[in-house]
Amino acid sequence: MTSFVILLKNKLAMTDIQTDQPIFDAEQWGLTDQQIALGEQARQLGKANFAPRAEGYDRAASFPTENFTDLHNAGLLGICIPSDQGGHGADLKTYMLTASEIGRYCGATALTFNMHVSSCLWTGPLADGLSIEPDVRENLQAGRRLHYKRIIDDGAIYAQPFSEGGAAAAGKKAFGTTALRQEGGWLVNGKKIFASLSGHANYYGALCTELETPDSRPSRSNTMYVAIPADAPGVSVEGDWDPLGMRGTVSRTLIFKDVFVSEEALLMPRGVYFSAASQWPHMFMTLTPAYMGIAQAAYDFTVSYLRGELPGTPPIKRRMYPTKQLAVAQMRIMLEQTKSLWFQSISEAKPSPDKESLIRAWSAQYTVMENANEIAQLAIRTCGGQAMLRSLHLERLYRDSRCGALMLPWTAELCMDMIGKAALYEAGESDEE
Ligand SMILES: Cc1cc2nc3c(=O)[nH]c(=O)nc-3n(C[C@H](O)[C@H](O)[C@H](O)COP(=O)(O)OP(=O)(O)OC[C@H]3O[C@@H](n4cnc5c(N)ncnc54)[C@H](O)[C@@H]3O)c2cc1C
Repeated sequence: MTSFVILLKNKLAMTDIQTDQPIFDAEQWGLTDQQIALGEQARQLGKANFAPRAEGYDRAASFPTENFTDLHNAGLLGICIPSDQGGHGADLKTYMLTASEIGRYCGATALTFNMHVSSCLWTGPLADGLSIEPDVRENLQAGRRLHYKRIIDDGAIYAQPFSEGGAAAAGKKAFGTTALRQEGGWLVNGKKIFASLSGHANYYGALCTELETPDSRPSRSNTMYVAIPADAPGVSVEGDWDPLGMRGTVSRTLIFKDVFVSEEALLMPRGVYFSAASQWPHMFMTLTPAYMGIAQAAYDFTVSYLRGELPGTPPIKRRMYPTKQLAVAQMRIMLEQTKSLWFQSISEAKPSPDKESLIRAWSAQYTVMENANEIAQLAIRTCGGQAMLRSLHLERLYRDSRCGALMLPWTAELCMDMIGKAALYEAGESDEE
């Protein structure tokens, strides 16, 4: 059965939900049948289940467990797993469009969904596009089968803890978390900060530096990508979690203390992550869909509120004031700019993009992350005092939207650095004396 038919069956099984208009109209943006069907499914789940639960997760800073059960039941945990292994076989663009629809209803669910799906994207569609030796490809395919089966059959959830507080997650030096070669596997030691899904994922897809001996010199080219079982001896979660926004991500600190992982824990054969990260820079844009969805949600809130149509608020119209109209126009222009640049960038994503495409990807990342927050900020100013009450979701959109620009490796600052440098220097040029 094709994934499209499965989706249609799921759709018929769901209660009759009046879904919102898609962020990207199918005809105007030329979406495929699969993109249309997955987007519709995401909007149904989002409106019926994720939106009503979002406030509770946010207040308690608790993980959206029920939403992940829904995502599993809907087959979406395997969105990027090849269809012959039970998934939808979605590519990068299809995943991004679907995740942006989830972000409209619960930013923390979309962001943690991204951490999970990334483990399938890196090992699946992205690795498939790399030029690698046939024996390495065979190992990759054999290794990932195990992980994919866990996801499809058992609803296993994978996290993506890369950050360590230093320059490694920014791509500037080797990861401080190390994997020392042992008989039959590795001994992992290290600490990961901001590990979304900590205490809730079944596997931590961690990046670490492989060492042949304790004295080996750490090198970025020896980066290893391993799935560490959450219940393995030596794994612990530390620290509290009471942040400004994206509270449902539960991004606490992970400690690995002499954690033994066997060969089967490898998510990618050695060396493949390093070439994937170098050849597939658009992969780092996968943090953006959650924020694309938030930008749309803040705009939708404003239009609905000013028209006096927002459920739970008095039916008082505010749309007749010229200053409100101007602000909405400003928000709409920013939203259109954001959508267009993002859509172009995810449409042209491919291995080894040229400099123009890469600059566009950094620009798209910067634009989504900064504009989502700017649109949410304008929404609060424009709607007025009552709209920022905690009983409505605009204030959560505003807080969640603030987090995007801080996320490594493509923070808003680092995007600016890279764009400026790439624009002014050609390959090999330097002003060093
Ligand atoms: C809600 C939320 C969820 C997250 N979830 C995850 C997750 O699941 N997995 C994960 O791996 N991470 C996650 N992160 C972490 C995120 O990607 C960043 O790594 C984290 O925010 C960095 O925090 P920091 O204070 O160390 O940042 P910073 O201090 O800004 O950056 C860390 C290091 O990066 C380098 N750096 C920063 N800015 C520059 C610059 N302009 N020029 C040169 N170098 C620079 C420096 O070496 C710096 O020490 C999450 C973050 C948030 C807010």
